[in-house]
Amino acid sequence: MSEPENSSAPRPISRALARKMEHLPLALQNQDEGEVNSSFRSLKELIDFASSKNIAKGITDMGDSGLAEALPFPFLALVGQNEMKLALMLGLINPNIGGILLIGPRGTGKTTAVRSLLELLPNVERSTCYYGCMPEDVEIGGLQAICPECAQKFAEGKALTASDRVRLVELPLNARLEDVVGGLDERAAVHERLRLRRGILAQADRNLLYIDEINLLPDEIMDAILDAAAQGLYTVRRGPVSATYRARFVLIGSMNPEEGRLRPQILDRFGLRLIVRGLENAEERLEAYRRVQAYLSNPRNMISQYSAEIQAAAAEIQEARKRLRSVQIPDEIAKTAIELTQKMGIDSLRSEITWFEAARAYAAADSRIQVNAEDLNIVAPMCLRLRRSSFMAEYFKDQASEETEMQDLLQKLQ
Ligand SMILES: [Zn+2]
Repeated sequence: MSEPENSSAPRPISRALARKMEHLPLALQNQDEGEVNSSFRSLKELIDFASSKNIAKGITDMGDSGLAEALPFPFLALVGQNEMKLALMLGLINPNIGGILLIGPRGTGKTTAVRSLLELLPNVERSTCYYGCMPEDVEIGGLQAICPECAQKFAEGKALTASDRVRLVELPLNARLEDVVGGLDERAAVHERLRLRRGILAQADRNLLYIDEINLLPDEIMDAILDAAAQGLYTVRRGPVSATYRARFVLIGSMNPEEGRLRPQILDRFGLRLIVRGLENAEERLEAYRRVQAYLSNPRNMISQYSAEIQAAAAEIQEARKRLRSVQIPDEIAKTAIELTQKMGIDSLRSEITWFEAARAYAAADSRIQVNAEDLNIVAPMCLRLRRSSFMAEYFKDQASEETEMQDLLQKLQ
């Protein structure tokens, strides 16, 4: 919670430490765990350091491994792919960035990177009630807005929420609409008490919702997800019963463009767009291979080598989330950014909302409460790419010539 300038914790020069550790073999790098924890001025520095432990840039392609889910590959051990890693971090810090889309061929580490977020997930306040009653419901709608049990608790001054870890919810590609939004609880129905079962979207509230191969998802399911994401809640009606669920989640999608396109209205919903390419540098590929090898032969050992940095990064993310509320963008900088999006011919307002929210998250991660031009520069490509539409450009050009023609004809009428 405290800003770094007020902190009395020792902060040795991290670059010197980084250099010192670069020359150690992987297995020996993390012995001095206590030191690692206090050696970084910012989350970004820590991530840059851990990601480049042996080699600066690259990717990890570990294919499908049954171990990946139970013991995910350490996020900080992914070689290179800095933009993707940064985007995922920003998503953990600021849920308002509006989703992250990872576009790239198979085997570029997209799914690995998303699953490896498991160890970095921050905590949120979550309702302890089956109906999801929250204190803010009372603020908005009074005691009638929550269930009788929670109303009682609230009146007694008891907490309706508890601190809980953000979860990574994966949507299976074969999920039915009923799984996604929820449906009648058949077991409850037998006892003549109609009750709705929470769907995946309700489970994703205040969590991350990951959809691999998002471009292959059936339209009706994609539409239900986008509606819920846009409003932060959704209502299910089944016969005489209906229920409204909160569904505020960070949507993460990944896709291989070779396998089908994504509808433009879906693309527009994704704040951050990442193009994930394979490794170009042979040395980096070798380093990625070595780490995958180390992981496959002994995942626990590999993970423990990164545990100090992972803990430090998780703590920094939690701090950055708290700091985010105070992070401001000066008007001057915001105006310049808006002018730039206009010059680029981007129409969607979502682009600058995302851009500003990503820059705020970046500043928060860097322990600052004011966004500067550099923050905007760093996150700009992931916010602004794939926003321009050649179709719309053509369309507006045609429309403009029609407008001129019409005005000319109207002049003659006078
Ligand atoms: Zn309740």
